[in-house]
Amino acid sequence: MPKAAPSNPKPARFLINKSPYTGTFSTDVEVGWGTEKVLVADPEWTFFDEYGHFHAVDTLGGGFPTLIARTERAACDGSCGNEDGCGGHAVTRYSCQLCAESIEPRYKTVTRQFETGRVYSWSATVHGAYIVPGIAVSVIINEEGMAPRFGVAVIARIALESKGPFELGLVGSGRLGFRPAEKSTKE
Ligand SMILES: [Zn+2]
Ligand SMILES: [Zn+2]
Repeated sequence: MPKAAPSNPKPARFLINKSPYTGTFSTDVEVGWGTEKVLVADPEWTFFDEYGHFHAVDTLGGGFPTLIARTERAACDGSCGNEDGCGGHAVTRYSCQLCAESIEPRYKTVTRQFETGRVYSWSATVHGAYIVPGIAVSVIINEEGMAPRFGVAVIARIALESKGPFELGLVGSGRLGFRPAEKSTKE
């Protein structure tokens, strides 16, 4: 999955297994993309019928403003990929709204990109008391100006350092929930 730029670490106060920590908090969003081929009316297509009536695609609003569309049931042409055929396909037939001449607009295949999903991940670096690395902990995150968030994280690393007794690296496990902003999570 292509990775969106992670948010800058934001200072926050934490409650980890109910004990206070200070540190920074980051979120990441990974967006998955897929491609698909779709058939669209060719915007380049133009046509004058027998009576000199002009027909084209409305490149802004879509569709054919000068044509009348009518949907019919047609025998299977194999386009459904069903080897034994199916019960038939709905096909749209067009005709000139002035002279009723049957018109076949031109279509073309285009490749379109679509989003398959988003994965949210989060991590934090906190300073405070020792916690055994590798274990899962309960976390409440209080970031200035944000509603408190809560979830579960794993202690991914731990180090002794100057800012506090220990520096702990947390990796979020699953999503974070929000709490109402007014009702603080403090005891
Ligand atoms: Zn079919
Ligand atoms: Zn016509």
